[in-house]
Amino acid sequence: MSSRTALVVTTLVLAAALVVAVAVLTPWVPLPHSGPAVPTDPARDFTAAQIDREDAFHAAIRPPAYVSLGLSLLIACILGFSPIGARIVERVAAPLGGGWGWQVLLGTIAVTLLGRLLVLPWDAWAESVSRRYGLSTRTWGGWALDVAKSYAVGLVVTLIVLFLVVGLVRWSPQWWWTVGAALGALLVVVVSFAYPVVVEPVFNSFTPMKPGELRTSLLDLAREDGVPVEDVLVADASRRTSSLNAYVSGFGSTRRIVVYDTLLTAASPEEVRLIVAHELGHAKSRDVVVGTMLGALGVAVIVCVLALLGRWTFLLAKAGVSSFGDGRAVALLLAIVAVVSFVGGPVQALISRRVETRADVHALNLTRDPEAVISMQKRLSTTNLSDLDPSPIVFGMFASHPTGPQRIALARTWAREHGVRP
Ligand SMILES: [Zn+2]
Repeated sequence: MSSRTALVVTTLVLAAALVVAVAVLTPWVPLPHSGPAVPTDPARDFTAAQIDREDAFHAAIRPPAYVSLGLSLLIACILGFSPIGARIVERVAAPLGGGWGWQVLLGTIAVTLLGRLLVLPWDAWAESVSRRYGLSTRTWGGWALDVAKSYAVGLVVTLIVLFLVVGLVRWSPQWWWTVGAALGALLVVVVSFAYPVVVEPVFNSFTPMKPGELRTSLLDLAREDGVPVEDVLVADASRRTSSLNAYVSGFGSTRRIVVYDTLLTAASPEEVRLIVAHELGHAKSRDVVVGTMLGALGVAVIVCVLALLGRWTFLLAKAGVSSFGDGRAVALLLAIVAVVSFVGGPVQALISRRVETRADVHALNLTRDPEAVISMQKRLSTTNLSDLDPSPIVFGMFASHPTGPQRIALARTWAREHGVRP
């Protein structure tokens, strides 16, 4: 079999496997119900003043946020789908001899840094809106440090990926994608497992929650749920944000509940329990493991698609490179990745919303306290200034969670189905 036939067949098989896995593993109907679902109605639970404030916030933050998003995509495309990016890569690596390794290293830094710096004014504008509304509590120094840290984390991952792709194509132009798809999938697994241990501490520090009623009740809740938890940690999130959150990270014996310190000061113990119950739902249905496996499969598909694109001479000519094994091709590779993530985003968001709804249903089944869900969602939505009634396009493209009013409506539907008064 020629490498081309093998590539086409592998791409089709992996893509079909991904579609089937998503179709089978996504909880499309998280809460089966007999009657009609309780309708979503922001005006029922939120005051006109709350809705106005959230509307004003989104009207103020959308322009810089969308310009930032659109501009980074545009810059990546201009640099990658024209010879400009290749020329920049060649120029920055020339003083060091212009070998492919220097081109990948310095070229990637130059291209990503250029993109990052050009959108920085809009990110600063968005940050100033968040500060004006009290959502961001960082100093400008703290903001700059966060921007630098997340750029550095992203750069490390990007460099690993690009060195792998360019190196593998140089090693075997015909068959690189076989090893590439396997290594790409493995990388997703490693990053997913390493993230809580390596990346989270870069942004927050964690301290064990003081022994007391709340800690005991959270550990009891986990035990009752059959999800073993090693510890409850508090993250010092208040240094940067006023938003409220909690999550469960790690696997098996290293699993721990992490609660934002902001949550402990703002919410009642019942509400903290409820958020933790939601997170236990994620742990119980192995959402991180399933998500990681789907991500690994997705990356394998992307590597195959990349290999197909690498055989498209029109595209290579546009970018002014001979193949992906050319160190100057990093700008083109970055552009392809930017387009793929933009297109894949809405699909990921759709799956995520279903998975989040399943965790909400789990929390309701575990606590049997829809009233706490309603008060918690009111608090979360107002404190996090969540969009209560987003346009379908914005919601479909970006929302990883259902809206607060949708989650409240779910609690009411659950209450009716289970004969519990909300
Ligand atoms: Zn969740």
